[in-house]
Amino acid sequence: MSTTPLIEVKHLKKYFQEGKGLLKKKSHIVKAVDDVSFTINRGETFGLVGESGSGKSTIGRSILKLHDITSGEILYKGQNLHELRKDQMRGLRPHLQFVFQDPYSSLNPRIRVGDAIGEALLDHGIATKKEIRQKVIEVMELCGLSEYQIDRYPHEFSGGQRQRIGIARSMILNPDFIVADEPVSALDVSIQAQIINLFKKLQEEQEVTLLFISHDLSVVEHLCSKIGVLYLGSMMELGSRDHIYQNPLHPYTKALLSAVPIPDPLLRRERILLKGDIPDPSNPPSGCKFHTRCPFATEQCRIEVPQFREVEPNHYVACHLV
Ligand code: SF4
Repeated sequence: MSTTPLIEVKHLKKYFQEGKGLLKKKSHIVKAVDDVSFTINRGETFGLVGESGSGKSTIGRSILKLHDITSGEILYKGQNLHELRKDQMRGLRPHLQFVFQDPYSSLNPRIRVGDAIGEALLDHGIATKKEIRQKVIEVMELCGLSEYQIDRYPHEFSGGQRQRIGIARSMILNPDFIVADEPVSALDVSIQAQIINLFKKLQEEQEVTLLFISHDLSVVEHLCSKIGVLYLGSMMELGSRDHIYQNPLHPYTKALLSAVPIPDPLLRRERILLKGDIPDPSNPPSGCKFHTRCPFATEQCRIEVPQFREVEPNHYVACHLV
């Protein structure tokens, strides 16, 4: 069996130029993703966590080549996706799928959900019209929907059911890899749990590999075996679920974790409140990007960028104190 990771992200950088056009004089570069590396093995669920503006969605979109990258490499089964021609990429598209935060915005209100779920099969010429209906029914049932709902329109479904439709649309192509970008953040807590359980089932039964993006560490805890914590486009900590939940080392990870409720009322976690908001990514702080909010910041933190280094096997941290 191949030991090559399914997905390798190597020194990924994605910079955006803002303020173009008439205001070009005032244009500036936003380093949305700044030298991020990680790997995802086949069958693994990787959680990418950070506040809004940390660059998580940009990484997800870069991996699926939904936009160009500034530099670095994205390898899928060892192939550099950003070096492939359009026709080569089109051949890989069925294997690489995306689940949106708000599936309703990606559904045409005038198209029945069965047609919306099956349209990718037609687009890629994978099945005939006759075969599609049966495949759609199978994938709807796999995702917790029922056959009788196949001819209904998107507005007839609840938020949780629409997310199931979004997941069914990505699963119909039998993908190797799915990027799920905040797929539960718009849902009620009880519905969130159902959708997370659905992802877990798909991972276990269909062996689909997932990149699960969330701003909330409590959401990824029961789903992800590996977790990366991002801040202002840089990876602050990367490790197994046990590393992150049992032995978090970076002050930012500790602060995020302190907000996660513990089910046992006898156990308490001291809440770490961060000062202020995430800084403007077009003008990030010098040295350690987290120093403006870190309770442990020293003079060195203001000047020197901490190295992202392995502090124990497969556990990486970027902090001068670790
Ligand atoms: Fe805090 Fe300094 Fe570590 Fe950055 S390097 S997280 S500012 S202690």
